[in-house]
Amino acid sequence: MSHIKMLCEARTGLNTPKRTMASHIVGYPRMGPKRELKFALESFWDGKSSAEDLQKVAADLRASIWKQMAGAGIKYIPSNTFSYYDQVLDATATLGAVPPRYGYSDGEIGFDIYFSMARGNASVPAMEMTKWFDTNYHFIVPELGPDVKFTYASHKAVNEYKEAKALGVDTIPVLIGPVSYLLLSKPAKGVDKNFSLLSLLPKVLSVYKEVVADLKAAGASWIQFDEPTLALDLEPHKLQAFTEAYAELESSLSGLNVLVETYFADIPAEAYKTLTGLKGVTAYGFDLVRGTQTLGLIKSGFPSGKYLFAGVVDGRNIWANDLAASTSILVDLQGIVGKDKLVVSTSCSLLHTAVDLVNETKLDDEIKSWLAFAAQKIVEVNALAKALSGAKDEAFFSANAAALASRKSSPRVTNEAVQKAAAALKGSDHRRATNVSARLDAQQKKLNLPILPTTTIGSFPQTVELRRVRREYKANKISEEEYVKLIKEEIKKVVELQEELDIDVLVHGEPERNDMVEYFGEQLSGFAFTVNGWVQSYGSRCVKPPIIYGDVSRPKPMTVFWSSAAQSMTKRPMKGMLTGPVTILNWSFVRNDQPRSETTYQIALAIKDEVEDLEKAGINVIQIDEAALREGLPLRKSEQAHYLDWAVHAFRITNVGVKDTTQIHTHMCYSNFNDIIHSIIDMDADVITIENSRSDEKLLSVFREGVKYGAGIGPGVYDIHSPRIPPTEEIADRINKMLAVLEKNILWVNPDCGLKTRKYTEVKPALTNMVAATKLIRNQL
Ligand code: GLN
Ligand code: ZN
Repeated sequence: MSHIKMLCEARTGLNTPKRTMASHIVGYPRMGPKRELKFALESFWDGKSSAEDLQKVAADLRASIWKQMAGAGIKYIPSNTFSYYDQVLDATATLGAVPPRYGYSDGEIGFDIYFSMARGNASVPAMEMTKWFDTNYHFIVPELGPDVKFTYASHKAVNEYKEAKALGVDTIPVLIGPVSYLLLSKPAKGVDKNFSLLSLLPKVLSVYKEVVADLKAAGASWIQFDEPTLALDLEPHKLQAFTEAYAELESSLSGLNVLVETYFADIPAEAYKTLTGLKGVTAYGFDLVRGTQTLGLIKSGFPSGKYLFAGVVDGRNIWANDLAASTSILVDLQGIVGKDKLVVSTSCSLLHTAVDLVNETKLDDEIKSWLAFAAQKIVEVNALAKALSGAKDEAFFSANAAALASRKSSPRVTNEAVQKAAAALKGSDHRRATNVSARLDAQQKKLNLPILPTTTIGSFPQTVELRRVRREYKANKISEEEYVKLIKEEIKKVVELQEELDIDVLVHGEPERNDMVEYFGEQLSGFAFTVNGWVQSYGSRCVKPPIIYGDVSRPKPMTVFWSSAAQSMTKRPMKGMLTGPVTILNWSFVRNDQPRSETTYQIALAIKDEVEDLEKAGINVIQIDEAALREGLPLRKSEQAHYLDWAVHAFRITNVGVKDTTQIHTHMCYSNFNDIIHSIIDMDADVITIENSRSDEKLLSVFREGVKYGAGIGPGVYDIHSPRIPPTEEIADRINKMLAVLEKNILWVNPDCGLKTRKYTEVKPALTNMVAATKLIRNQL
């Protein structure tokens, strides 16, 4: 409707009350604006509070979220997106698919069994956890096999629906879709690796039918199935499973509106066809932020009479929406599906963004005006819906346009010199001039290391005392002088310990760092930090990603002071310790006004300066951690090569300027790198240390299959995630297994990852055994 007409109607009072276009939120953060759930969970786990206390905190959080959404005018408000730990684990509980080791027999699953699955208990380990698509959220992987008895064992979904209803909020209950549930699970231990998880579909569906019937009986008129696996490149038989599953559910679903929600990427054309042909389904949700091609698919054909939930508000970032741009997409879509069938939504669950900007007391007003956290995104969704129905909140829209304009033109965002330098990198290649084997020779002459050199990944235990020192320094409670003295003392302790243990390449222990990204972000320009911008990582664990809002540069050296101090305490080589550009990018909220690659190149240049300053200061070994390189891998295969290309290039840029004799290490903490091994080789680091101990076979198989690795490599010899002390023989055995597939002159010996979460009482004996095992093997070589 035109503006003029709207105004006339308003003036003449002929305006019949219009229905606002509907709005929807895919899901909402559970932790609470100040991590209330985290503290309640941890206190319950520690036995400091009761189950009722925990339930009360959880119920209050749910109530406040529902009321907040209802108050903002959201029509389709989700329920069952709360979780005490993880939504996939909730689905496992609903289906009663509890692995036998937890001793569940029957009845409603309570905290006892639930948290044992999540966290393990004194006698049994937890279930495995893995990354939720390309986010930093981790879910609990279902363990299934032919013998699993599926029973309706948790009524959480219907209970939450009723709870909201009692508060006067009619919600849309959200369930993990049955096919995605199976596709995300793995065969349990002892089950044939090739077992077809999809063969369990009929059994799983029979429980889903009960859940649906229950929700219907409770009064639900809509139901949402999250089927994010539809955004992956699925083989035809997997797509076929969707068709079968929803056909099977059709009669149970009749009388309900059924939304199948997808997110995180474009839907492949085949999947789109499958999705829009599903029986019993009346609505489809798409991520229109990450899915840039999906719009084209919708335009090329959308089933008539069905609802389109248009995810235009970004659930994975913290930027204010471009309301004008979103409006024009929505107007387009409205032309295709019709006004009453279009619903404004978020691109995915808001679980992956920060909670509420209101609690940010340290951000300045300008930056704040550029941002929208979950609570603000709800308001944006509703504002868009209202605008589409002709009730545009002009003030809200113009404030948004002004904020966007200020972000575009702010001198804080743009640094011409940085832009130019980064632009100059594209199109050209950057590699060290000498090949890796010649470099290793030159380095060995200088470093003179024994065969199977030992090292650690960087951090040493972060004691309560150490955290206190950093906190007090930050709060200006202790002077800089005092702080430097205390940190140096800590470094000295760590250096002496490593010498005592007879480790070959030392680290300073990272006592000055709170977090491997934040530490650098705080010293680089272009970064901002929140006070409460927490995002759930797993269970009660949250991370607080920095916000990259502007061009990145390095005003001055960041680590040279500490690394030089550490080197001066020992004759052994001291590793300089940096976080790589790709990891800094992937663990931050990143700009959406330029390609991610652009931002990464800028960070790479800053790290390059740091690398060169370390080299000048006499540091001969420099480790550049790329812990999150794999995490940024796009979900769709068609986009992966491009990502790996620029990510690996950015890494090489950081160290292209060093001498042959300077040894560049990198580190990665995951072992499923077999599919990207060629990119890892292409990083051209002199030495890579990598997590391995939890999956020997998987990592080493790639070398067994003939991939040539000529650089130094240190597959972790023990798991640092566990307090267990690895016996010498076990480590020796691991080293021997590696020697069976890797040349002895490239093998390094090190733990899986940094030691900061461990205690000295664990670290000392573990490293003692590691060195002993190494010496044992050296003597046999
Ligand atoms: N250097 C870091 C440390 O040792 C690496 C951490 C990581 O890979 N996540 O803590
Ligand atoms: Zn690691």
